[in-house]
Amino acid sequence: MSIQIFGLPVSRGVAIGRAVLVASSRVDVPHVFIDQSLIDEEVARLMKARDVVADEFDNLKRDLPADAPAELAALLDVHQMLLQDEALMGAAADWIRQRHYNAEWAVSAQLEVLARQFDEMEDPYIRERKADLEQVVERLLRSLSRGEPSAVPDASRANAQDFGGDEPLVLVANDIAPADMLSFKRSVFKGFVTDVGGKTSHTAIVARSMDIPAVVGARQASNLIRQDDCIIIDGDAGLVIVDPSPIVLEEYRFRQRQSELERSRLARLRHTPAVTLDGERVELLANIEMPEDGPGALEAGSVGVGLFRSEFLFMNRGSDLPDEEEQYDAYRRAVEAMKGLPVVIRTVDIGADKPLEGMSASELRHESVLNPALGLRAIRWSLAEPSMFRRQLRALFRAAAHGPVKIMIPMLASQREIHQTLDNITHAKRQLAESGKPCGEVELGAMIEVPAAALTLPVFLRYFDFVSIGTNDLIQYTLAIDRSDEAVAHLYDPWHPAVLQLIQSTITQARAAGKGVSVCGEMAGDPAFTELLLAMGLRSFSMHPSQIASVKQRVLRADTRRLAPLVAGVLQSEDPETACAELFHVGASTHGQPVQLRA
Ligand code: PEP
Ligand code: MG
Repeated sequence: MSIQIFGLPVSRGVAIGRAVLVASSRVDVPHVFIDQSLIDEEVARLMKARDVVADEFDNLKRDLPADAPAELAALLDVHQMLLQDEALMGAAADWIRQRHYNAEWAVSAQLEVLARQFDEMEDPYIRERKADLEQVVERLLRSLSRGEPSAVPDASRANAQDFGGDEPLVLVANDIAPADMLSFKRSVFKGFVTDVGGKTSHTAIVARSMDIPAVVGARQASNLIRQDDCIIIDGDAGLVIVDPSPIVLEEYRFRQRQSELERSRLARLRHTPAVTLDGERVELLANIEMPEDGPGALEAGSVGVGLFRSEFLFMNRGSDLPDEEEQYDAYRRAVEAMKGLPVVIRTVDIGADKPLEGMSASELRHESVLNPALGLRAIRWSLAEPSMFRRQLRALFRAAAHGPVKIMIPMLASQREIHQTLDNITHAKRQLAESGKPCGEVELGAMIEVPAAALTLPVFLRYFDFVSIGTNDLIQYTLAIDRSDEAVAHLYDPWHPAVLQLIQSTITQARAAGKGVSVCGEMAGDPAFTELLLAMGLRSFSMHPSQIASVKQRVLRADTRRLAPLVAGVLQSEDPETACAELFHVGASTHGQPVQLRA
């Protein structure tokens, strides 16, 4: 029977495919399609891993001390039995043969199927065997990772259809850490659904940057959806339909075709300069996470990078953080990819829902890390680790020798932090001068993402060349709403008058001081806000490359002379969203969602 699950729409479009259920802890197992000719080899690889684990169990049992409790030997027998069970190994081999999954993926997929069966058992003793099964699978995964990798190492870039899979695949998980999400960037999945998360959580942001339909905060999705179910992800409505009827399926296939047409129509605007009807030039920049995103940003028609989230270079690496050379190389590649256009690189914004280790926001909450969003995050973390901070600064100044680089500092709140930051910059420059390594001039910018910064803007304008408004955090900290917590997602309101006033006053003051000002939070890429931000005087927007065309269309149709006098009415209104729609005659908000534009 078809069911509907509601969540939060975070990335537009429709995806239709088979569900791949992944437990949060196993999101980072490799997901690779195996070529038909190598299927037998992959099954043999799985069986070899099973034999290795079987030997481990035998050895453990043999080496048990004589006085070990009898339960231990019995437990090892249970593990051995589970390992040899056809319901695990036979079925995993079937996933390899039928769906062309690599061994790790096959075994985790089968674990999800069996774990669910265990959960449904009446008998508590049998239910508890799920933990044993998980331990056995952990051992198998470890054994696979120690052995030879799958024979088609680069197949993860390939498309499901290339390997006989007849339908696209969509990923369903309780939660995905932003770093793991990033590893899916060039993967086979055509859509995502998670149980938890908010619209501007970093997992959602990465999903949006991949430009594939996604729904987060869908509460029970990973419980209600089963491995291999046919599902529709409606990324515009925040809806997931499991096992749809043929009529619904046909309706969504039609919508899919429509939105592809719409995209190709918008793509034609790629090289059109973003100029309003009254001749105001508007800068549309790209937000990127990795240097490899540069060509996509150019392709989408951006005129530079307005936010390179450098922290993704630091995540999921244990204690092996990138040294100066590795960072220099990454920043240089980003700069070169942009072919002379400016690149704003933000110093690490680690912490909150982007911990160094790949924990998701919900895992962090379970770990009782209290209020990570208010903790040692972003510039606070950098200032607490000065040698790390200077290493990054040196790498950035060196990359600036290869093209225009601007350095941007996240989450500054006080004058003291500004001075400490500037001291570190002076120190890093001195170190570079002593080393004699070539470096370039950089402009220095501050992100305005805490109300304290917006309210004391003149101090920031005194010390920085430009400011960039991080609306995702500005909303979070102004309204005291954790942006990654779906339980309060309905209160996360970019239209709140307090938020709009802070944005307006930041833009006005920066312009009056002759300093650059842009918005690089998700509001910049949401066409529902384009007219309002233009009316407030904003001329620089930074967003995911996939949103540039929709925003550009709004810019091309806007007349800032008509819009500017209407801002006061919006700001004074109790309901700015409605006031904006009425005064500007534009559609209602789809925050985080580009509006579907009519032809
Ligand atoms: C923001 O807060 O708006 C922003 C752009 O930074 P991030 O989303 O990475 O916190
Ligand atoms: Mg931020």
